[in-house]
Amino acid sequence: MSDLIYKKRNIYDTITPEELARANAYAEEYKLFLNAGKTERESVTEAIRIAEEHGFVPYERGTQVKPGDKVYKSLRGKALFLAVIGNLPLTEGLNIAGAHVDSPRLDLKQVPLYEDGGMAYFRTHYYGGIKKYQWVTLPLALHGVVAKANGEVVPVNIGESDDEPIFMISDLLPHLGRDQNKKTLGEAFTGENLHIILGSTPTGGEKDSDRFRLTVLNFLHEKYGIIEEDFLSAELTAVPAGAARDLGLDRSIIAAYGHDDRSCAFAELRALLDIETPEKTAICILADKEEVGSDGVSGMQSSAFETFIADLAGGLCFVAQAFEKSFCLSADVCNAFDPNFAEVSEKSNAAFINHGMGIMKFTGSGGKSGASDASAETVAKIRRLFAENGVAWQLAELGKVDQGGGGTIAKYMANRNIETIDAGVPILSMHAPWELASKLDCYMTYKGVLAIYGDK
Ligand code: MN
Ligand code: MN
Repeated sequence: MSDLIYKKRNIYDTITPEELARANAYAEEYKLFLNAGKTERESVTEAIRIAEEHGFVPYERGTQVKPGDKVYKSLRGKALFLAVIGNLPLTEGLNIAGAHVDSPRLDLKQVPLYEDGGMAYFRTHYYGGIKKYQWVTLPLALHGVVAKANGEVVPVNIGESDDEPIFMISDLLPHLGRDQNKKTLGEAFTGENLHIILGSTPTGGEKDSDRFRLTVLNFLHEKYGIIEEDFLSAELTAVPAGAARDLGLDRSIIAAYGHDDRSCAFAELRALLDIETPEKTAICILADKEEVGSDGVSGMQSSAFETFIADLAGGLCFVAQAFEKSFCLSADVCNAFDPNFAEVSEKSNAAFINHGMGIMKFTGSGGKSGASDASAETVAKIRRLFAENGVAWQLAELGKVDQGGGGTIAKYMANRNIETIDAGVPILSMHAPWELASKLDCYMTYKGVLAIYGDK
């Protein structure tokens, strides 16, 4: 084949047996990370646990950092910044990788509990972009925290192990589905009807009221010491129950909840653990709230990032200089070409499974609206770095022009005057309860982040 022609390559055609073994070992570690964290809080807790095992310590304000120091800053337990201090001053720029650890899910309403038809239910308000029909007749687990008025914060986790119960939203039987079938996909299931079944045992006698609610409250009080009013100050969420699993006879794919964006979050974290003292300070961001617009104190529009860098650099006055010379890999998933829905993709610019990390020069929708759009020079830099470091990668675009679109934290980083590009793992069934990612693509994303951290 002529070198003049650009062609995407399947990693299986080039990978050595040794590297394939490393990729498979990496996938096993990644699955453990997925199973340990199904909410942003759980993922942050797990990331801190892993980081501390590798010598990271919480950054204490006022401490002067020196090359080789490994520090982290938790943003109220919901987002995390980690840093390995480089040899150069921070004003010479940072190499940043930013992923998010929140995923689409069903949050409980603040007054969630009710009863009807001899059953107790939780009402929900979905979080992020979901296709609602995918969440019915699906085993669900309850995760989250209840913050009591006395300051105590109680973690909740029910439905993950085989001896625990699961929860579920019911669907209509097809025999009575005539009217439902006439509705559009978006209309057939409404957000206000995603009610989770909690139980069907009454407490008390026939004349008592609220008998089914009371049973639920009795259980929760016994197990967690909470009362119904405590829901007002809770963050409880229903997520798909069960562990990440290998998919396919060849076990080449992982089916899991939350590949978006834990596949990139873990790649960033793992790579940060594997670097020696870099030239430029390496920063790993595990952000919250990406799925709902990156707002809030734990989202990437928050000034918490400036504060963290100012602390490390010795003052807010150094932050703008540091950012001007920094680079950010906005590590977020992209869509993999799906032959079942080929019509939404334009094959020349689509990412394919097992073809490596997907680099997105721009995201946005309808004429690149809302995209930070990395410069040609930035893409050239990625080409050079990844070629030098044996990173399999591919250029990717989120579907055909005018087909839809989406965004990441990229523009919020770029708006800080940080050179930024989107890159991540190609995903099948993105935002579905069970998303699919190939082990090789996950591993190559780790290698890609490693190359960024090591860039001089
Ligand atoms: Mn994402
Ligand atoms: Mn997403």
